[in-house]
Amino acid sequence: MDKKIWLPEHEIPTHWYNVVADMPNAPTPPLGPDGQPIGPDALSAIFPNSIIEQEVSAERWIKIPDEVREKLATWRPTPLVRAFALEKALGTPCKIFYKNESVSPAGSHKPNSAIPQAYYNKMEGVKRLITETGAGQWGSSLALAGQMYGLDVRVFMVKVSYNQKPYRRLMMQTWGAEVHASPTNLTQVGRDILAKDPDSQGSLGIAISEAVEEAAGNPEANYALGSVLNHVLLHQTVIGLEAKKQLAMVGEYPDMVFAPCGGGSNFGGIAFPFLADNATGKNVRLVAVEPTSCPTLTKGEYTYDFGDASGLTPMTKMYTLGHDFMPPGIHAGGLRYHGDSALVSQLYHEGLLEARAVSQIRTFEAGVLFARTEGIIPAPESNHAIAAVVDEALRCKETGEAKTLLFTLSGHGHFDMVSYDRYFKGELEDYDYPEEAIKASLARLPKF
Ligand SMILES: *Cc1c(COP(=O)(O)O)cnc(C)c1O
Repeated sequence: MDKKIWLPEHEIPTHWYNVVADMPNAPTPPLGPDGQPIGPDALSAIFPNSIIEQEVSAERWIKIPDEVREKLATWRPTPLVRAFALEKALGTPCKIFYKNESVSPAGSHKPNSAIPQAYYNKMEGVKRLITETGAGQWGSSLALAGQMYGLDVRVFMVKVSYNQKPYRRLMMQTWGAEVHASPTNLTQVGRDILAKDPDSQGSLGIAISEAVEEAAGNPEANYALGSVLNHVLLHQTVIGLEAKKQLAMVGEYPDMVFAPCGGGSNFGGIAFPFLADNATGKNVRLVAVEPTSCPTLTKGEYTYDFGDASGLTPMTKMYTLGHDFMPPGIHAGGLRYHGDSALVSQLYHEGLLEARAVSQIRTFEAGVLFARTEGIIPAPESNHAIAAVVDEALRCKETGEAKTLLFTLSGHGHFDMVSYDRYFKGELEDYDYPEEAIKASLARLPKF
């Protein structure tokens, strides 16, 4: 019986897998304010050259620098675990495996990209990294990575989270980052907003605008983004590459792969290496799982839209609910994004990926079942994948199919216990699909 399938350290992948090399159609280009494709140089004010190269690369395998593999080895390879106790509780004929990304120092998959991003910036002489964070998962991952390479990290944290989530703020400070409650007086965007509304609680859109403004205006500083962009998904493919090797060690191959999907980075990270196999004759179904209250892939429109609420970023072709759509305040903060990765969107549009939406209470039911069987308390985001896996395993119980199911446990929920508390007290809400709000924000899509 193999409960945990370990890989030795030297089996950390030597290369990232770039799905662009195997896509049936070239990726759609990002567009500038004039509706014309933007060149790589448009990004050079805020990103280092090696990251921009990766963003536009079509090369299948991209070498992971030894200095990055060394840092990833702090916790990688992550264990692949067979969820025997969950299988037994469900009485399913399926085999369920999960790739445990919660074992990173920050508690999620996000350091897989924070570390190479910090490394490339360091190599190009950058002194400071600037970013935004909502609930704090990305900010804490970048704080960790900045500390590893001796970079200053400045985080604009949405004010409401800054006040409500002191523990993630303290994690960032422990790793040496400077954390500011956004809107701040440090940027023009922030000063303008505070002049109009001194009590503004901030938003992710405002925090992004502040971070980008400061990074663009300071030659020694760059910006770093924790999801959505091609290079972030590229860095996350270590998840799928390791999982494939680990499954092969026990003679298994998945029929279906699941992951929670916010901006698409942990989903792309586990799914793309398997998508490569589909191109050579395998038939594995790859399922992105999102909240019914922010149903980007399942209910959004596939069109060009801005990446941020205030329309400062280039436009990308993606599934979107409209850039100024305000998702209900669900507890899976990492899944409250109006859009999705361009790569995930295009491959989904072409029918190579699938998506499902799950309601909030159902996700917590599944997460608590997981905690009571497998022992790990999952992040609310991860609960989405667990709920979809549980549903599939129960469906297979009816039909008698014995499938092999794999999912990413994208993070642990130790900093989300207030959400679990609300679930236990019966205070958690199931938001209806916000049809009217989505219709209204889709009517405000950019026209060019
Ligand atoms: C940020 C986050 C997500 C969602 O982000 P993706 O880019 O879609 O992976 C999912 N799970 C956890 C634990 C996160 O922190």
